Amino acid sequence: MKKFMDENFLLQTETAQELYHNHAAKMPIFDYHCHIPPQEVAEDKQFKNITQIWLYGDHYKWRAMRSNGVNERYCTGDASDWEKFEKWAETVPQTLRNPLYHWTHLELKKFFGIDKLLSPATAKEIWEECNEKLQTSDYSVRNIIRKANVHTICTTDDPVDSLEHHQAIKEDDFEVAVLPAWRPDKAMTVENTKTFNAYLDTLEEAAGENIGSFAALMDALDSRHQFFHDSGCRLSDHGLETAMAEDYTEAEINAIFNKIRKGNDLNTDEILKFKSCMLYEFGIMDHSRGWTQQFHLGALRNNNTRLFKKLGADTGFDSIGDFEIAKSLSKFLDRLDKENKLSKTVLYNLNPRDNELIGTMIGNFQDGSVPGKMQFGSGWWFLDQKDGMEKQINALSNLGLLSRFVGMLTDSRSFLSYTRHEYFRRTLCNLLGNDVENGEIPHDMELLGQMVENICFNNAKEYFKFE
Ligand SMILES: [Zn+2]
Repeated sequence: MKKFMDENFLLQTETAQELYHNHAAKMPIFDYHCHIPPQEVAEDKQFKNITQIWLYGDHYKWRAMRSNGVNERYCTGDASDWEKFEKWAETVPQTLRNPLYHWTHLELKKFFGIDKLLSPATAKEIWEECNEKLQTSDYSVRNIIRKANVHTICTTDDPVDSLEHHQAIKEDDFEVAVLPAWRPDKAMTVENTKTFNAYLDTLEEAAGENIGSFAALMDALDSRHQFFHDSGCRLSDHGLETAMAEDYTEAEINAIFNKIRKGNDLNTDEILKFKSCMLYEFGIMDHSRGWTQQFHLGALRNNNTRLFKKLGADTGFDSIGDFEIAKSLSKFLDRLDKENKLSKTVLYNLNPRDNELIGTMIGNFQDGSVPGKMQFGSGWWFLDQKDGMEKQINALSNLGLLSRFVGMLTDSRSFLSYTRHEYFRRTLCNLLGNDVENGEIPHDMELLGQMVENICFNNAKEYFKFE
C-alpha cells in the first residue's frame, strides 16, 4: 500500500516520478487566468485567519458544505470565522474522492507544512497553527505568491475597471507580473435592459464619452481596450453558454441598440444578433492589438432562483450545460479567419462531452503562423480534477499536439490554489510515465523532460508574449 499523499502522490511509475521531480516541480507558475482580486496583491494583504483566505469566496467549498447538510449561515452567512472553519473541518472527511479532499491537504502541506488530515479532531490545532503563520509577514499575499514560485498572474477585469491596483503593483516593482485580462461579458448582456443601460452609464464614465449610438459604444470599448493594452493586458476572456454567430446587418444592429437604449426589451432574435455582432467586434479588437482571446463555453448559471436572489452570482449554483457548441463556434471563428483577423485563441469547454469536439475544432484554424495558435484549454471548473484533466489531455493528445499545450491555470479565487498546478503536473507526468512503462512512447527522458517543462511553463510564456 502506498502512503497517502507522499512526495510521489499520483505518480505511479518511476518515469512519472523522475519527470515530475526533475522537470515539472522546478518550473515557475504561469497563471494566465484567475479571479483573485488585484487589490489584495496591491495592498499585500495579510489574512487574519485561515477562514478568510480559504472559505471566503470559495464556492467549491460552499457547495460541498451544503451537500453535507451545513446551514448557509456557516457558508456565506454571519457565523464567526471559527464556526465556519469548524463546519468545513466536519465536511472534509466527507469529501473523500472529491478533489477538495486532495486540494485541502495539498494546500495545508504546501503552504503551512501541515501533514495532519483535517477533521473535527484536528480542527482546533490546524486552525491555530495556520492562523499563527498567517499573521507573520511570511504569509502576506505577495509572500504566498512567491512561495508558490509564480511568474505571471492574469486577473479577470471588466472594461470599466480603473486598473489602479495593477498600476500600484507595477509601481512597487513586485517581481511577479500581475496583468489585467479583458472580460467584457457585461457589455453584451442585453437580456436585461435595465442592467445593460446601467452598465453603459458606468462605461460612459470610464471612457469619458457619451454612448448615444452603436458606433459610440464601439468607440468607448475600443478606447478602454487601448487603455487595458497600455496597462500590459494582452488577453481577453469571455464566459458564454455557446459562441454566437447569427447573420446581421449594420442597420439591424443600430436599430437594436436604439431600442434597448430607449428602455425597451429585446426579443430572442435581436439578442442573438446583437451578441453575435459584439463577439465579432471583440475578436476584431483583440486581433488589432495582437492579443489572445479565451472562450469559456458551456456553463449553465444561477440555477437556483431562491438562493440567487439571496446571495447573487458565483455562489455555487452553476452547473454543466448542454448547449450546442460546434456549428456557431466554427462559423464565428471562420468569419474572423476569412478576414485574416483571427487572434490566437484558447477554447475551454465545461461539458466533457465536448472534449473531442474542441480537440478537432482547434485543428480547423491552425494555420502555421504560431505553434499551437488554437489552444484546447485545460480542464476547467467542474473538470479541473484528475479525471477531467486526464480526459482533456487524452483528447488533445489524440486529436492535436499535446507538446504545444499552454497548460494549466488556477481559475482561482484563493491565493492558496496554486497547488492546482502541482495537481495538474503530477497528473500529466503520470500519464506520460504510464505510456513509457507500456512501451507506447520512448523512454527518452530528454524529449519527455523538455515536453513536460514546456507544458508546465515555457509554452505559455512563449505563446502569450506578455512583456
Ligand atoms: Zn474563470
